[in-house]
Amino acid sequence: MNEIIIKYKKIKNIYIRVKPDLNIYVTAPKRAAKKYIYELIEKRREWIEERKEIVKKKNNFDISRKELISGNEIFYLGRSYMLKVLKCKKENIIPAGRMIYMYVNIKDKEEYKNSDIRKKHILLDIWYKKEALKLFDSLIKKYCSIMNLEVNSFTVKKLKSKWGSCDTIKKNITFNLELMKYPISALEYITVHELAHLLEPNHSRKFYNIISLYMPEWKKSKNILDTFFDNL
Ligand SMILES: [Zn+2]
Repeated sequence: MNEIIIKYKKIKNIYIRVKPDLNIYVTAPKRAAKKYIYELIEKRREWIEERKEIVKKKNNFDISRKELISGNEIFYLGRSYMLKVLKCKKENIIPAGRMIYMYVNIKDKEEYKNSDIRKKHILLDIWYKKEALKLFDSLIKKYCSIMNLEVNSFTVKKLKSKWGSCDTIKKNITFNLELMKYPISALEYITVHELAHLLEPNHSRKFYNIISLYMPEWKKSKNILDTFFDNL
């Protein structure tokens, strides 16, 4: 049984959330009776259980929380792979079939556990980035030619709250490294989205009309970014 954490605030409605720790967080108006809150949770039990399953999947999708040991599930371009860690002086990452082989120079002793985990995460991120640079380079070329646009440069890095951004003056595009875990259609959408900003900086109707012109099914691709882990 999970814990129920209630916070009272100056609000009108009761909000129920399931957070990554799988506890139930309730925000309620100051005068809401505890009995009423618990009744509401009981009524919404089915929905809460559904949310819990989604949060569990999201937790599993979030590689940054993992120790990166053999058997861990990791995602690359929308596919699930099983990680196999091999201690090796010459570091490398090689996907083969449904496996990702990680050759990493770890100490593999309990007292070095944390530094080993850090090392594996750095190696994995370097690999994701190397693959991302190749992939976005070809996507930018493809869509620049289709949309008749030019960009000066692009970068890939970890962004906190955006999938990408476009500096319309310098014509530089930045992509979130996290995209590499999603299916390619989502990456294509973000590429077209950021390129479209060169024609229209704001998220106006005109902007989405431009996207529709080059990617009529863009809504499907955009949805993948919001719901991919729900359907795993
Ligand atoms: Zn945008």
